[in-house]
Amino acid sequence: MVRVTVAGPELVDLEAQGPTDHVKVFFPDPTTGHLAAPVLTAEGLERPSSGTLHVRDYTPRAYRSRGPTGPELDLDLVLHGDVGPASTWAGHATVGDRLVVAGPKGSKLVPPGVTSVLLGGDETALPAIARWLELLPVDVAVRVLAEVDSAADETYLDQVGPAGRPLEISWLHRHGRAPGTEPLLERAVQRRGLVDRSTFVWFGGEAGTLRGVRRHLRRDLRLTARQAEVSGYWRLGEAAFDHHAPIDPSDPD
Ligand SMILES: Cc1cc2nc3c(=O)[nH]c(=O)nc-3n(C[C@H](O)[C@H](O)[C@H](O)COP(=O)(O)OP(=O)(O)OC[C@H]3O[C@@H](n4cnc5c(N)ncnc54)[C@H](O)[C@@H]3O)c2cc1C
Repeated sequence: MVRVTVAGPELVDLEAQGPTDHVKVFFPDPTTGHLAAPVLTAEGLERPSSGTLHVRDYTPRAYRSRGPTGPELDLDLVLHGDVGPASTWAGHATVGDRLVVAGPKGSKLVPPGVTSVLLGGDETALPAIARWLELLPVDVAVRVLAEVDSAADETYLDQVGPAGRPLEISWLHRHGRAPGTEPLLERAVQRRGLVDRSTFVWFGGEAGTLRGVRRHLRRDLRLTARQAEVSGYWRLGEAAFDHHAPIDPSDPD
């Protein structure tokens, strides 16, 4: 994971108040280095006349309206090798490189009145999970199921959110196996007593491995779409995965 801080006066009005907000980030072409991005006009976003758009979704991890050189936005990008424009760029980025960021389009705020929450996901969901921990009221009890490679990756959620919150984090280790290939989250969510009728549930991560999680929540436990949100953040073997595509085509929302 690499933290990228984007700075510039254009960020002055950025608002990201929901835990699952995301921005669209336009990356340079990995081969030519050309950064194609839409331009903001009075009529809205206008596509560039040339170049391929390489756009991916990222969670605004933190925003400061007054950084040392103006407004700043932190993005945490998972490095998965020189594969895909985002990971390739992030693995070689140096200070001063350019990105174009658009959004967030809207914010879905923390659901009101919840008393207990279960959060889960792989590394791509950790920024959103951290946002949940910061934005949920301190008296809401939170359990987290976090899939990472090994114990060395367990620091991301250290001291995130208010002290004193009832919080239990279970780290699930892949032990060197590729992300998106093991049903670790599915097995973990089936643990008895993890979810009851009053628990709000949110999961994000590799869409294929989340299908079993969603089936358990929605079919076995009969949680409603409002109570259990499962969001595919990427899909193994698919570039530029569209997170609006249903995780389970046999049972779309
Ligand atoms: C709402 C939302 C918020 C997101 N927030 C974040 C965030 O804060 N941080 C973050 O890192 N990601 C986040 N993601 C996921 C990120 O957008 C994807 O991982 C994206 O595909 C990365 O683009 P890429 O150019 O690196 O790879 P792509 O060109 O999209 O894919 C190329 C290949 O890499 C594989 N791949 C993609 N992502 C991964 C991965 N993480 N691990 C292993 N293989 C992968 C694909 O399966 C494909 O085979 C978010 C996604 C959504 C929908």
